Amino acid sequence: EKTVVVITGCSSGIGLGLAVRLASDASRGFKVYATMRNLGKKERLLESVRDGHMDTLEILQMDVTDQQSVVSAAQKIKEQRVDVLVCNAGVGLMGPLECHSYQNMKTIFDVNFFGTISTIQAFLPGMKHRKSGKIIVSGSVGGLQGVPFNAVYCASKFAVEGLCESLAIILQHFNIHVSLIECGPVNTSFLHNMQRTDLDNSRLQETDLETRALYHQYLHHCQMIFRDAAQDTEDILQVFMEAINAPSPALRYFTTQFFMPLTKLKLTSTNGSDYVKAMHQFVFSSNQKRDDKA
Ligand code: NAD
Repeated sequence: EKTVVVITGCSSGIGLGLAVRLASDASRGFKVYATMRNLGKKERLLESVRDGHMDTLEILQMDVTDQQSVVSAAQKIKEQRVDVLVCNAGVGLMGPLECHSYQNMKTIFDVNFFGTISTIQAFLPGMKHRKSGKIIVSGSVGGLQGVPFNAVYCASKFAVEGLCESLAIILQHFNIHVSLIECGPVNTSFLHNMQRTDLDNSRLQETDLETRALYHQYLHHCQMIFRDAAQDTEDILQVFMEAINAPSPALRYFTTQFFMPLTKLKLTSTNGSDYVKAMHQFVFSSNQKRDDKA
């Protein structure tokens, strides 16, 4: 019997990669329901899955912000059970807080937070009934610690942490494992797909000169971090596979050790000031040094 996997956000990046990886697995042990908001974007997935593996892949429309679309996708699962649910759909938002429109911020929470909840809600009753299941969520280092100019994205990913950690406690009773795959920067179209306040220049003009200068410094830092520390999707997929194959997966998996000193500092120095200082130093004092090295 195949392991039935449902993945959200499969038109690009990690979701696309994971769907291809599982559907092409040599064991043919997975049946993947790769879901995406816009079926018009299914070509890349179809092209990547070699012929002969079509019995291991089905593509379904699912917009995680549309409950009706989540429910109708769930009804199309032929096996009428899901062994592994991967909540991966997510969007970023960058810029000075005062420049974000209410609608932009709401979209981030609708996709990253409420979208994850809706997806879990759709499949949780079945998993509870069968007393088995794995829920795997694309988490972020930005869900564990604040990142400048990413306040709303981080808030949405912090919310996902609270959701998953809370669920994990109760779901032990049902033999359901919740896991967060905590990613640092990954080479996907995430940055490109992200909503950026600065791309709408009129909005950026609304803030003061000092904030704008700091934001440009941050964007530069971000570029350097992606250049120096971004992981390839393949590395991330390894970690997903570890969680999917583990008999008893952990709550958190870190794909990289790069941010571990900052993550630990936040946990050990509980009043938060040391983290705030260290993160400031990391972003705003290190540009010069790294440029010299390059
Ligand atoms: P990506 O932009 O390629 O993938 C995100 C996917 O989510 C896209 O395919 C997009 O179409 C989909 N999506 C957006 N809104 C949706 C909706 N309403 N319904 C269904 N799907 C929707 O980027 P990625 O890097 O593959 O991101 C995947 C996950 O990894 C996200 O949750 C992201 O927050 C997380 N993550 C990414 C990075 C990174 O640097 N790339 C870092 C940390 C965490």
